[in-house]
Amino acid sequence: MALINFECKKCDTEFDCETGKITFGNILNFEEDIICPKCGKLNKDNMGLTEFGQTQIGELYFSKGNNNEQSILDLCDQEGTGFEAIGEDVKEIFYPILFTIEETIYLYSKKDLLLEDLRIIESLKKLRDNILSEKTNYNTLENAIINRIKIILRLNSYSKRDILLSLSKVLNSVKLHRSLDGKKGYLIFISDFFDKSGEGYF
Ligand SMILES: [Zn+2]
Repeated sequence: MALINFECKKCDTEFDCETGKITFGNILNFEEDIICPKCGKLNKDNMGLTEFGQTQIGELYFSKGNNNEQSILDLCDQEGTGFEAIGEDVKEIFYPILFTIEETIYLYSKKDLLLEDLRIIESLKKLRDNILSEKTNYNTLENAIINRIKIILRLNSYSKRDILLSLSKVLNSVKLHRSLDGKKGYLIFISDFFDKSGEGYF
């Protein structure tokens, strides 16, 4: 049994709902109906997890020692978004995964105060080059990103290419902000963003 924070895609309301037993397959399954206070029972297409809800699910999932069960590759969808690049016109489709990668970096930076953009660049390059292949030794930040991406893959249809595009997109953003604003340029940029948007969550 777990109380999880959802959002309704019909009316944009965020709400907590008791899910009953959660089954962690390729797609998340909830024993109980997910009920929006305004729209009533939601089907899979209308229910979304808030960022906080994703964190809650992640904690539940990893507290059960499930983390090595399936690889990123196992969880990828064949079709995915079908896009060759993350242009401005299609960016929104990639928001769940982009947001997750950036939020994980942000949360990690709160614990590792010595973190600088260069280390994030190295980690993202390592993930981009290795995430689809077998075992590599990852550090804490890299493992955190992988684990959060796994949750996103259970909730959304993304392909291998989508994952690599998203990692490259964030990587380019880090490089850009570092070149503009110095060795913590990107970290300052995402902190500004999440400090504002995350109020009330933490
Ligand atoms: Zn609703």
